[in-house]
Amino acid sequence: MSNDREYFDDPEERFTCSRCGWSGARSTMAFELFDALFEIRCPACGQRIGVVSYPTEDQVRKAALTGNAEAIRMLERIEGRRN
Ligand SMILES: [Zn+2]
Repeated sequence: MSNDREYFDDPEERFTCSRCGWSGARSTMAFELFDALFEIRCPACGQRIGVVSYPTEDQVRKAALTGNAEAIRMLERIEGRRN
């Protein structure tokens, strides 16, 4: 396994924008989805703040089972692609 931190460990993890000083929880931020990464952008000024590894399907399933709303939405997307 890689040493990436798990996507669902801390959905309220806080980020601060280096350009405008905005700070807030990841759950309030703008995301752009690439193949295996989320690019995180400041919702105030659009500055790129960082990237987060996309969770594996196993991680999504586990988090969905615990009732994580974001994981449940992702799981629906994963399953939708197969139909
Ligand atoms: Zn900003």
